[in-house]
Amino acid sequence: MPVEPIAPSLRVGRGRPDPVALIRDLTPEEALAAEVKPALSHLDALAEAYRCLECGTAEVPAPCQRACPADVDVAAFIGLIARERPARAARVILASNPLGGSCARVCPTELLCEGSCVLHTAHDRPVDIGRLQRYAMDAAFSEPASFIVSLPPKNGRSVAVIGGGPAGLSAAAFLVMSGFSVTLYDEHDDIGGLVRYAIAPYRLWSEPLPNERAWLEGLGVRFRLGHAVRDAREFTRIAAEYDAIVLAVGLGDDVEIHYPGDNLPGVHSSLPFIEAVKGGVPPAIGQHAVVIGGGNTAIDVAREAWRLGAGDVTLLYRRTEAEMPAYPDEVLQARREGIRFQFLAEPVAFTGTSRVTGVMVRPMRLGAPDASGRRRPEPVSEAEPFEIPADTVVRATGQQPRRAFLTEVAGLEMLGTRILVDPMNGATSRPRVFAAGDAVNGGDTVVEAVHLARVATHGVEEALLGSAVR
Ligand SMILES: Cc1cc2nc3c(=O)[nH]c(=O)nc-3n(C[C@H](O)[C@H](O)[C@H](O)COP(=O)(O)OP(=O)(O)OC[C@H]3O[C@@H](n4cnc5c(N)ncnc54)[C@H](O)[C@@H]3O)c2cc1C
Repeated sequence: MPVEPIAPSLRVGRGRPDPVALIRDLTPEEALAAEVKPALSHLDALAEAYRCLECGTAEVPAPCQRACPADVDVAAFIGLIARERPARAARVILASNPLGGSCARVCPTELLCEGSCVLHTAHDRPVDIGRLQRYAMDAAFSEPASFIVSLPPKNGRSVAVIGGGPAGLSAAAFLVMSGFSVTLYDEHDDIGGLVRYAIAPYRLWSEPLPNERAWLEGLGVRFRLGHAVRDAREFTRIAAEYDAIVLAVGLGDDVEIHYPGDNLPGVHSSLPFIEAVKGGVPPAIGQHAVVIGGGNTAIDVAREAWRLGAGDVTLLYRRTEAEMPAYPDEVLQARREGIRFQFLAEPVAFTGTSRVTGVMVRPMRLGAPDASGRRRPEPVSEAEPFEIPADTVVRATGQQPRRAFLTEVAGLEMLGTRILVDPMNGATSRPRVFAAGDAVNGGDTVVEAVHLARVATHGVEEALLGSAVR
């Protein structure tokens, strides 16, 4: 079964620089840091802002705003950029999305705001909303005094937020802006959760998280970093100390699918691999890299391995491209850069003695649909397994839920692998405990975590103040 060749037509798009050459001309560090959505200059930002039709009304928001899970008033902030008021634009963004700086870099805008831009109907390219949002946030962060948010008087109630990823950070910001005293616990020494440790460095390495942290501290959020809430006893102690808890613990480690040979040096799981890359100590990559999985994480890992200098990178997926959970645009970008795809192929073993040297793969075909509605892959019985050479293998087949800690908490009901919440207010089955983010939706995007944090904040307001401050 041949590995899909790199389509020549995709190697150099008409009128675009060759992404393969661009990446290959750089050192690994430069290639990893080269942003896929770089900052706009002042003049480019103004020109782009003028393209916005500022459509929508107070009654019927613009399509871009309706497509934004955080409900950012896009037309309003872009109008302020056009009028050269970026700090005020940042205030508009932050009122709906406390992680406006991070989201500007990592949101799948093609599917959300930009995918809904009315300019599409005129067969024009959409307004570059993500980069305009970044422009406003960067401008504001360079002058922190310019966008101080006025806070209401303290309401006398306190909330503990467990988890300092997008959901926890957003919940902390929304709660402080509603008058609560907030303490946020995270096991890491730095904030950001997966944004800090997992999102691809060419989207976001660490900036603007330090600025977002400084902004949150300025609002009065107290951070207890390097503090893991380890068990139900500690949870109960925290529950007694605060009026409410927001659980924003995300998901757990990689799903471990075991194959013979998976303890060989050179075989990695996706999250530790990416964390090492973002930590500046990437694993030795060798000549041939193989990534197992069909989601966005697998695509990210493949593009990172390519930037680290692998001679070739092959992504193995046991279904076809049509069933891949990865965003089509991400698949296209990976292909343009030179990643090869081997569909209908399932690993059965890793070969090698002192280090991995190959992946034994068996050919698959699609059978009847499974519970997910996708056609189930089945081995082709008459086909022989074959070997793909590999010096590095990364398994990227998803994250597990954080069962260990959650299942110990008395009265906290789970829905399969997720924390069960009331979708109207984020309330869990345990009184005064709310939840948001990946732990609730099973893993989605940063901006969805922001949205669920807002829902949980309304729940806390209803429970502790009697009505939600909207
Ligand atoms: C490889 C990868 C790439 C991604 N790329 C993108 C992207 O480009 N764009 C996008 O929008 N989304 C992306 N996502 C998804 C996005 O990162 C998540 O949806 C988002 O981070 C979820 O936020 P969260 O706060 O719910 O969880 P997390 O980000 O996981 O944060 C949870 C935090 O809680 C902490 N914690 C957990 N338990 C405890 C405890 N008991 N005590 C103390 N602290 C605890 C964790 O250490 C962590 O810091 C990606 C995800 C992955 C895995």
